[in-house]
Amino acid sequence: MSHRIAVVGSGPAGLTLARVLHRHDHPVALFERDPAPDARPPGGTLDLHEGTGQLALEKAGLLTGFRALSRPEGQAMRILDTAGTVLRDWRPRPDDRANPEIDRGQLRDLLLGPLDVRWGRDVTRVEPGTGDGAVVRFEDGRQESFDLVVGADGAWSRVRPAVSPVTPHYTGVTSVETSLDDVDTRHPDLARLIGDGSVAVYGVNRALVAQRNSGGHVKVYAQFRAPLDRHTNRDPADIEAVRSSLLALFDGWAAPVLDLLRHGTAFDHRPFHTLPVSHTWTHVPGVTLLGDAAHLMPPLGAGANLAMLDGAELAESIVAASGPGDLDEAVRAFEERMWARAARWAKITTAGLERLVGPDPAEALALFDRVQPS
Ligand SMILES: Cc1cc2nc3c(=O)[nH]c(=O)nc-3n(C[C@H](O)[C@H](O)[C@H](O)COP(=O)(O)OP(=O)(O)OC[C@H]3O[C@@H](n4cnc5c(N)ncnc54)[C@H](O)[C@@H]3O)c2cc1C
Repeated sequence: MSHRIAVVGSGPAGLTLARVLHRHDHPVALFERDPAPDARPPGGTLDLHEGTGQLALEKAGLLTGFRALSRPEGQAMRILDTAGTVLRDWRPRPDDRANPEIDRGQLRDLLLGPLDVRWGRDVTRVEPGTGDGAVVRFEDGRQESFDLVVGADGAWSRVRPAVSPVTPHYTGVTSVETSLDDVDTRHPDLARLIGDGSVAVYGVNRALVAQRNSGGHVKVYAQFRAPLDRHTNRDPADIEAVRSSLLALFDGWAAPVLDLLRHGTAFDHRPFHTLPVSHTWTHVPGVTLLGDAAHLMPPLGAGANLAMLDGAELAESIVAASGPGDLDEAVRAFEERMWARAARWAKITTAGLERLVGPDPAEALALFDRVQPS
């Protein structure tokens, strides 16, 4: 018997869940607030790890497709000090497939494949435990019932209140994101500085990171400790005002590093919020969470990987419970597994953010030396 499954959100978590269910011919209703897949810029590049994101793609039957699109050379990482001196210049071996990079848009399209997403369906709330299952309510006043509603709707989840009263809190670190296009032709010096992968510069309580995406596109992240409203109250549309405030904040850093900000196009403010390191809840039949909705943590290379593995594992649990198994027991067991794994990574990434955007840049370098294979 197939259960009636609703997934709210078509990010990495929701898409992987739906895609693995689809692979097992299990029906699923996937609701997404965005009106179309390309309604928003998809964001930067993601490195997918062998034991998590790539494992999830394997469960979805998409590992070969990933390998064709991903950039193993994008794992390269260069670290500079604020004077522009190269402190580390790490390059992967040609056969290194541990954490290749892929553009988010490419990953989304790979996962989307044949899925029938219900675009433009904005969920306002979920009510568990009615006679006919959990009820999903939409912005337009409609409602539908399901045996299981999965909140894969990210940091500001509308499904979360059905199981947990917890909301994200500000970490004290804000990132302002900008981009460079056609970097090899328009900014060859910056292209050389960034190389095939990423360049990171760590100063006191601030950092600048630039990451190469495909097609000569580069994303630049200026990260710093600041009160929540310090930069978010500046109109991001006022590009030159944001640029000069960032240049003032990173004053004294080497000119080629500051060029990453001087040549940036639009600016986007992203204060980093997180959920508590060990966010759990008393199990609620008919509703669960995964990905950022369940375990939002600092963006240090784990969130999308965990979100995808959550999605793949929950899908397999649902499929297994579609035989004689019990769906509710399967979801409970999945939650226990997800909570334990997420807590481990939340601890690591929370400590990592303290070091990478902290008072002592030597700590950032020490962290790099600890995690990077030599
Ligand atoms: C700057 C930055 C860099 C990062 N880099 C990495 C990295 O290198 N590696 C890594 O693993 N992770 C990285 N992360 C973290 C990663 O982006 C997230 O952990 C991941 O996207 C979480 O996936 P998700 O599917 O749970 O949520 P999301 O990606 O947030 O997707 C949620 C989806 O739900 C939809 N939605 C929201 N509300 C509703 C609603 N009410 N109704 C219907 N739909 C709704 C949204 O439109 C969205 O499509 C980074 C994050 C940031 C901010």
